[in-house]
Amino acid sequence: MHELAIKGGRVLLGEELVEANLYVRDGKISSISKRDMAAEEVIDARGAVVLPGAIDVHAHVHPIGYLHREDFLTGSRAAAAGGVTTIFDMPLMEESCTAEGIKRKIQDGERMSIVDFAIHAGTFSKRMLGLLEEPLKVGVGSYKAFTCPPFELDSPELLRIFRFAAEKDVIVVVHSEDGGMVRALEEEARSRGSDFMDRNLARPPAVEEAAVLRTSVIARFAGARYHVAHVTSLPQLRAIEYARSRGTRITAETCIHYLVFTREEVRSKGPYLTMNPPLKSREDREALWRAIADGAMEAVATDHAPGTREEKEKENAWEAWGGVPGLQELPTVVLSEGTKRGIPIPRLSYVLSEGPARAMRIYPKKGSLLPGSDADILIWRPNVENVWSGEAVHYKTGWTPYEGMTFSGRVEATVVRGRIVFRNGEILERGGWGRFVRTYSRA
Ligand SMILES: [Zn+2]
Repeated sequence: MHELAIKGGRVLLGEELVEANLYVRDGKISSISKRDMAAEEVIDARGAVVLPGAIDVHAHVHPIGYLHREDFLTGSRAAAAGGVTTIFDMPLMEESCTAEGIKRKIQDGERMSIVDFAIHAGTFSKRMLGLLEEPLKVGVGSYKAFTCPPFELDSPELLRIFRFAAEKDVIVVVHSEDGGMVRALEEEARSRGSDFMDRNLARPPAVEEAAVLRTSVIARFAGARYHVAHVTSLPQLRAIEYARSRGTRITAETCIHYLVFTREEVRSKGPYLTMNPPLKSREDREALWRAIADGAMEAVATDHAPGTREEKEKENAWEAWGGVPGLQELPTVVLSEGTKRGIPIPRLSYVLSEGPARAMRIYPKKGSLLPGSDADILIWRPNVENVWSGEAVHYKTGWTPYEGMTFSGRVEATVVRGRIVFRNGEILERGGWGRFVRTYSRA
């Protein structure tokens, strides 16, 4: 007997939505079929859309040393409520460079998280580069690096990490803003002023374009895979397109805040729309949506990095924490705002699930509704008005930049390996259901 059946919904099958029943056995998808079979638990999904659960490949969900901002318990509750079934924990500092450090995070995650999670190794600053072998020992095959402060690598170190990546067949996720330009432009901007717009304007699209061009050439030279973190602008997209045309093994993610807000809104929302890289123009935002529509973007992530109101509300913008939450809003923003732009749901689902799973090479275990894949499922109710409220978010810091926005559609249920962890507004699982997902094996 099946443990779970999701009946009567429109189920993602290839690039189409097909009315069918989806069956789960032993935590895995067992079949998608028109047949009506018995199951221990049945979800009536008539009128809803059944998609693979979302995968957030960039979330600072358990930042060691800053756990007052978020941790695996609160972060994974937000994820579950938002339809995210796998989180890639991104290091905030250098806490995930050693096997020991990563092991501690895995233990915390398996004790606290209610959704599955992977770990990005790093941050590999210059002083950590001697430790590149360490993450492999614990099954981690994705590495975080920067081309700008605070963990800036220059060309010799980028060459070193990409050569290592090519040799071991692992992936390097790079925060791609040009360090030399950022340092110079921020110094100029600081002498001009200290409001949030001064800070925003200090990192124009050119700093990203420069970083992607240089980094992609080094990655191609070394023969390694390069994943561009949080793409924000049209010039950066063009640089990625160029790198691809030259044969670079490059993948890209953007984040939901770049798909919703523009620089103009920094005037009114100041610290609550301040992050690195900063928001850009309306033209840049629409270019990101086009990249999603035409397949140039593999993933939409969150760069979930909340700070407390105290850490945010500084008189001097340069002292404010730069980061915003987003885990709970991820699928809602992509499915609602993407649908409004006429992008079909299967394409939107791709950047939420299959695209990120392929980029991080956990497909088809994750990011798929194929028989045999983990039964990680998002049930989406389209066309219902959904007014977003800070009171409904599970974040430790209690605020959201999407406060008061009206979305079209809402997450009705979230299933992780066959277990319903969220349904109709309620979290149904305590910490401890989430499992670590390996991204490297010696086999
Ligand atoms: Zn980040």
